[in-house]
Amino acid sequence: MESIKVFCPATIANISCGFDVLGVALDSVGDEMLVKKTKEKGIHISKLEGQDLPLETLKNVAGVAGLALLEKSNYQGGFEIEIYKKIKAGSGIGSSAASSTGAVWAMNQLLNEPFSSLDLVKFAMEGERLASGVAHADNVAPALFGGFTLVRSYNPLDVITIPSPKQLFATVIHPQIEIKTSDSRKILKTNITLADGIKQWGNVGGLVAGLFKQDYDLIGRSLVDHIIEPVRSILIPSFDAVKKVTLQNGAIGCGISGSGPSIFSFSKGEETAKRVGIAMAEIYQNIGIDYDVHVSKINSEGIKILN
Ligand code: ADP
Repeated sequence: MESIKVFCPATIANISCGFDVLGVALDSVGDEMLVKKTKEKGIHISKLEGQDLPLETLKNVAGVAGLALLEKSNYQGGFEIEIYKKIKAGSGIGSSAASSTGAVWAMNQLLNEPFSSLDLVKFAMEGERLASGVAHADNVAPALFGGFTLVRSYNPLDVITIPSPKQLFATVIHPQIEIKTSDSRKILKTNITLADGIKQWGNVGGLVAGLFKQDYDLIGRSLVDHIIEPVRSILIPSFDAVKKVTLQNGAIGCGISGSGPSIFSFSKGEETAKRVGIAMAEIYQNIGIDYDVHVSKINSEGIKILN
């Protein structure tokens, strides 16, 4: 195989109580990439459509993640990459992770899979380091493995895949305002109280158990964030109002997607997820902020080959 076209899913990270550790891949939202083997060494990004992002290898997360893979490979050639962005950069649904994982996953396929999925997570994390200054794995892991993933430990890196209940749907609204990941990290407190810690890890355990048991009520009860959301939500206009209408319309839970400004909610069934999307959209229509809404089932495979 000399070239491959792939779908690279959008992802929700920082799922409520699972800040920096829990993420999930979406099915109907994502970028496309075409990756070709070349005789010349290195990575060349020849095309980037849909967003205004740098083509320079060292400034694009696909280039940086790809170079991390090449450094560990015996392959003597290089790769040319075309990126078709559908996910807006800085939206909070893993735009950078889609490009860095798509690049390394496609390259691994073209080289006959010398690397494990965990190796690919590590290469893609170098792209995340470029995007946000922190090599976090909670977007790249679900993009590569599919479904929900838990980053149990960063050192050593330990990623656990978690099954997704069949009828679980995500609704994501992206209000078109800019929040820099670095700014939304800066406002976080570095210490937490023991009381908050106890509530938070109770919910992480409950959420993981709920996903395994396909227990939607338990998932909903556990989608609570006592630590990050109260601080970060002040950066997102009408966050409390949006959250309230999602729950009134039948969503089982709602929180900040990634570092915002996108807001996600989970529902049982597509109909409810669509109704929740309409209710979320009304809030931003009323205050005059443009938005995108996505309704998606959970993507259980991660990156997929396109014909
Ligand atoms: P998201 O919030 O959607 O996860 P990030 O904030 O993680 O997005 O990443 C966006 C940042 O990464 C922007 O600063 C953007 O310029 C940079 N970047 C570099 N290459 C890419 C790429 N191929 N796709 C998306 N963002 C990229």
